[in-house]
Amino acid sequence: MSESIRILLVEDNPADARLLSEFLAEAENFYFDLVRVARLGDALRRLGTERFDVMLLDLSLPDAQGLETVARAYKHGAPIVVLTGSDDKDLAIRALREGAQDYLVKGQIETALLERSIRYAIERHRSEEMIEQYAYYDRLANLPNRNLLNDRLQQAILAARRENQLVALLIADLDRFKEVNDALGHQFGDLLLHQIGPRLKAKLRESDTVARLGGDEFAILLPSVESAGAAIEVAGKVLKALEEPFVIGGLNIDIEASIGISVFPEHGADADTLFKRADVAMYVAKETRNGYAIYSAEHDHNSSHRVTLMGDLRRAITEDQLFLLYQPKIDLKTGRVSGVEALVRWRHPEAGVMAPDQFIPLAERTGLIRPLTVWVIDMALRQYRAWVQEGLNLSVAVNLSRRNLQSQELPEQIAGLLQDSGISAANLQLEITESSIMENPARAMEVLSRMTSMGLQFSLDDFGTGYSSLAYLKRLPVSEIKIDKSFITNMETEEQDVAIVRLIIELGHILGLKVVAEGVEDQATLDMLIALGCDMAQGYFICRPISAEEIIRRMRSQPDPLNGRKTHVQGNLYPER
Ligand code: C2E
Ligand code: CA
Ligand code: CA
Repeated sequence: MSESIRILLVEDNPADARLLSEFLAEAENFYFDLVRVARLGDALRRLGTERFDVMLLDLSLPDAQGLETVARAYKHGAPIVVLTGSDDKDLAIRALREGAQDYLVKGQIETALLERSIRYAIERHRSEEMIEQYAYYDRLANLPNRNLLNDRLQQAILAARRENQLVALLIADLDRFKEVNDALGHQFGDLLLHQIGPRLKAKLRESDTVARLGGDEFAILLPSVESAGAAIEVAGKVLKALEEPFVIGGLNIDIEASIGISVFPEHGADADTLFKRADVAMYVAKETRNGYAIYSAEHDHNSSHRVTLMGDLRRAITEDQLFLLYQPKIDLKTGRVSGVEALVRWRHPEAGVMAPDQFIPLAERTGLIRPLTVWVIDMALRQYRAWVQEGLNLSVAVNLSRRNLQSQELPEQIAGLLQDSGISAANLQLEITESSIMENPARAMEVLSRMTSMGLQFSLDDFGTGYSSLAYLKRLPVSEIKIDKSFITNMETEEQDVAIVRLIIELGHILGLKVVAEGVEDQATLDMLIALGCDMAQGYFICRPISAEEIIRRMRSQPDPLNGRKTHVQGNLYPER
């Protein structure tokens, strides 16, 4: 009797309750402290003031029936094991979708099963909480991410409005980070990212927030400053802190940063505007090489580098400078290629080939993402048809951006493209992220459900880094989740990552979803994923993103992209139809 587990049993039938407590009394590994109530209302009251490790919940109570019971109990945060009367597996599964961790069928319960189920529910709930926590953190930089920063900025604005104060937002862009990554490899870049947070925090107050926005962009929120001058002073200190070289693997690395500043209420009344304006100021700082710049209305009219790039991008779409690469997804059960993901590139006349990270954010901010997405889908569909003519049947996945899910026109545009090409919607998959839904959930859900009714398939990309992950996942019309590569790449060394990946796979399967792992970079990771029952995998180890012609060549001439290094995967990875 090592551990004691506190259980809240919500059961109105005295005979059922007695039976359960008898089973629990026979448990060998735990001591169970059982509290029983007969009504959901009583349960919720007790949950409000007491701590329980787990709740055993009957689905037919005097004051609550069926799924509603779970929905109401779920919000209170304790893991839930549902007790269903008959062998109603359907109801039980729907209960899992509503947030329950496990279910037991009355009449089929015995001590060992009960014990296992309780343990499992507690364990799973713990992992679920862990995943939800990552929704607000950037694991590479070990800092809050954009979601958390955005929440805090909104709160700071509310407080400042009440108390007549100023809020400052600083956006810092590291000029050398990409070079470090390219020259020394991303492990090196990751180590550098880790050092940024502590260095910046040393110059800030406890109440300030440092966040990573993505790539080489960081943000600092000063929730209450006396004046714009005070924000400039902080920018100066931050720049100075970054001047000192970073020492990584014995090398001295110099980083330069440009900081843009916007201040509430002077430069904007809401988080969105403050972000945009700090961003504009940041580009000004970059061009003038001044280190920092505070937003001013003139900046918007200046023809900056960004404005030039924007014009370039507009032209790129019409002048065929964009092109697509395709990365295969393999089915781990059959070893076959189940489809490809289209990834866009820009062959810039002067700058050379640019990766999407360098221009998608810009396209999003300027609205160019709409024509760009339409171009990508059009191209992907043409390619699909060309492959069919070559005898290959490869469904194509296209990435959608945040803005796309807010666009009422997108469903019609896609319908038009499908009709023109004569391709069935089932062959086009769209990859979306949770954060793009959370920007305006009601609107996004409407756009999504229109597209779902057209027969399009959705895949939830970057899973584990999104907003309120699990709670929302249960309601989204997706048929697939892609575990974010940040959980996959270090599976070999990080036990915690393996635990999370296992949980996501389990959870996905409970919800009837296919689970894909992206960012598979070695055999060991692939083997682990197969052992965990993952459905599909994608990554450099299997195949890098390659051109459409290369896809045909590879499917023909090199049926085994793993070069014989595979162990569990059997069969031809590149089947012909
Ligand atoms: P994503 O959708 O998560 O795409 C996966 C990215 O991971 C791709 O980078 C891919 O090349 C890379 N990758 C694949 N296997 C591995 C691996 O084993 N290890 C590592 N470290 N990386 C791997 P890429 O092509 O640079 O795309 C970056 C992001 O840009 C994409 O992330 C997606 O969010 C966005 N993107 C790409 N194409 C489009 C597009 O057509 N439209 C929109 N809206 N976004 C796009
Ligand atoms: Ca994707
Ligand atoms: Ca992804």
